[in-house]
Amino acid sequence: KNLVKHFPVKAGIFQRTVAVVKAVDGVSFQIKKGETFGLVGESGCGKTTTGRCVLMLETPTSGEIVFKGVDITKLSQKQLRKLRPKMQIVFQDPFSSLNPRLPIKEIIGEAIAYHGIAKGREVERRVQELLEMVGLSVEHMNRYPHEFSGGQRQRICIARALATEPDLIVCDEAVSALDVSIQSQILKLLENLQAKLGVAYLFISHALNVVKYISHRIGVMYLGKLVEVAESEELYLNPLHPYTKALISAVPVPDPKLKRKKIILKGDVPSPLNPPRGCRFVTRCPQAMQVCGEIEPQLIEVAPNHFVACHLYSWA
Ligand code: SF4
Repeated sequence: KNLVKHFPVKAGIFQRTVAVVKAVDGVSFQIKKGETFGLVGESGCGKTTTGRCVLMLETPTSGEIVFKGVDITKLSQKQLRKLRPKMQIVFQDPFSSLNPRLPIKEIIGEAIAYHGIAKGREVERRVQELLEMVGLSVEHMNRYPHEFSGGQRQRICIARALATEPDLIVCDEAVSALDVSIQSQILKLLENLQAKLGVAYLFISHALNVVKYISHRIGVMYLGKLVEVAESEELYLNPLHPYTKALISAVPVPDPKLKRKKIILKGDVPSPLNPPRGCRFVTRCPQAMQVCGEIEPQLIEVAPNHFVACHLYSWA
């Protein structure tokens, strides 16, 4: 709720002045039990920082993170450690997120033993179970990370995340480093695991087609703000925010008979050190009006479960 994460940085020619990077600036959303909420936007829009704040891997500057009814920003480190098993993360790079010196059974078993999920020989049995759950087998237990392909390593990362029986997994660009054919296998796996275990995902990606495939609802971020939130199908078929429209127009359509007009945005994303006044998209928006540079649009519900922050709909 109203999540803000600002990073102070040194700026100026002599690095003597302190400026503030407004990485996340007042973001609110909910993720329901067993749901996938997709967060999409260009690099640097604040989606990864949002995901890290949700897990308290970054301490928010302000705002609340309510997990199972408890605002976890108020918890002590000791209290937070108790909750950690229930909130896990799968990173983008399966090559660097596994310890190369440990065999798979230790990589996964470590989390199980540390959090007291199982003890002794039970740990090994649980590792076997998890490997089978992610499409690997018992023979893989004694192998090391370098003996696996990228897709297999990501399966191991998912097994490790599941080892602590979490309720929420943040998937941060979890399939972005994989080949397209492997991407679809991992997405299918995540879907099947969700159906079986009821785990919720915060699925972060810059690729709208990937987010659309796996998410029940999607939030679109631009320069530290959520600009549109809607159910996946609704967002794709009826995008309202000019930025969402541009993102969708850039997704390739597989049918050559179907032509979609591509919206090319002018300029680059402005610096989060000095975001534009009013609407943050004003410098690139093809439909900008005078009010857009003066007043910041709020995220409002313009249709059931469809929220948008844009003055084109403020008076709808
Ligand atoms: Fe464009 Fe104005 Fe809407 Fe911002 S508020 S997206 S500048 S029309």
